[in-house]
Amino acid sequence: MTEFSTDPIQKSPNRILQGLARGFRRRCPNCGEGRLFKGYLAVQPTCPACGHDNGQYRADDAAPYFTILVVGHLVIGPILIFPFILTAPLALVLGTTLPALAVVTLALLPVIKGAVIGGLWAVRAPADGAVR
Ligand SMILES: [Zn+2]
Repeated sequence: MTEFSTDPIQKSPNRILQGLARGFRRRCPNCGEGRLFKGYLAVQPTCPACGHDNGQYRADDAAPYFTILVVGHLVIGPILIFPFILTAPLALVLGTTLPALAVVTLALLPVIKGAVIGGLWAVRAPADGAVR
């Protein structure tokens, strides 16, 4: 006998996509209505709309990891497509790219964290590891 749920409905691709989409919109993955965050990145422990315990899902380092993955590709792509970036004055390249990267990183981090929490909700993976 396995510890994992074999119910195909509870962990269906639709549920995973639904959780990711709701989290990406920074909404409660359970109802899609309540705000997931009470600030920039702090998760509201309880959904104000449905009362779901969103504090049980710990995104930890996954959100920064995926954010760096996406932003890193945004850096590497232009360098490969526009090689003059490598020969441009360093001050110009740093002065234009670093602020842009900071803005993109700060904009993506909450939505990616929301998607991670939505994914954890979809696979029913609370921080305590209990099967629900
Ligand atoms: Zn909710």
